[in-house]
Amino acid sequence: MGYGDQLMGSGLARGAAARGKRVALGDGRRILWDKHSEEIFRGNPNLAPPGSERDPDIEWMPFYKGHRLYNKRLGPRWKWNFAFHAVPGELFFGASELTAGRRYSTGFVVIEPQSAQWKSVAANKDWGVKNFQAVADRLKAAGFRVVQFRGDLSAVALQGVEQLGTRSFRDALAVLAHAALYIGGEGGLHHGAAAVGIPAVVLFGGFIPPSVTGYATHTNLTGGAEACGSLNPCPHCRKAMQAISVGHVVAAAASHLSEPSRKYG
Ligand SMILES: [Zn+2]
Repeated sequence: MGYGDQLMGSGLARGAAARGKRVALGDGRRILWDKHSEEIFRGNPNLAPPGSERDPDIEWMPFYKGHRLYNKRLGPRWKWNFAFHAVPGELFFGASELTAGRRYSTGFVVIEPQSAQWKSVAANKDWGVKNFQAVADRLKAAGFRVVQFRGDLSAVALQGVEQLGTRSFRDALAVLAHAALYIGGEGGLHHGAAAVGIPAVVLFGGFIPPSVTGYATHTNLTGGAEACGSLNPCPHCRKAMQAISVGHVVAAAASHLSEPSRKYG
């Protein structure tokens, strides 16, 4: 799994250090971090790294790869746990990371036209690059600075959209912290936007329910569908995405961007 799970893990651990505790994400015997964990948990006083299993301040939380609390595998689909509600995650940036995060200034709109293409569910989470291009065009015409992150895994560059180079996902989040808005699919960057306190318009569609992995401060668009969790390309999910118009997304974006209380970096 990707960065979203790590960010949700940091949300589950919120406040532990203030109670004199550290949360151990694992099975009660071993702390089970994966290849993305250290990048997200670096500097976080609420989380205990592997090797601290026997420390006295540990609180176990059974959240790890293969056991994510918010879903269960049921044949060809995920069964969602509707009792689970994602809590915004936390990042603890160092001084140089904070400085680097300001290098593209503030107040821009980040748009990400593709969710993780290497996952089998990609088709069910795909709103379409053309639609994202249309949203970018309309926001630009309205005078907004629209940008996209360029990293190792971003395949599609929208036309006429400023491409911001990023060194890592963590670096992208340090930059995202200075955005006015994020627009994109359900995935690492929408969890990241919540973690750095940035509003978002999230294209959920019909695969995964916003009540489980969404955030109340975001506009979460489902196209009116109940989430199916299907791990195979699914007509119901395609319909859900088709029910979300460019106009919906632009209107949701405009309402976030006109909020007088929004704060930039
Ligand atoms: Zn579906």
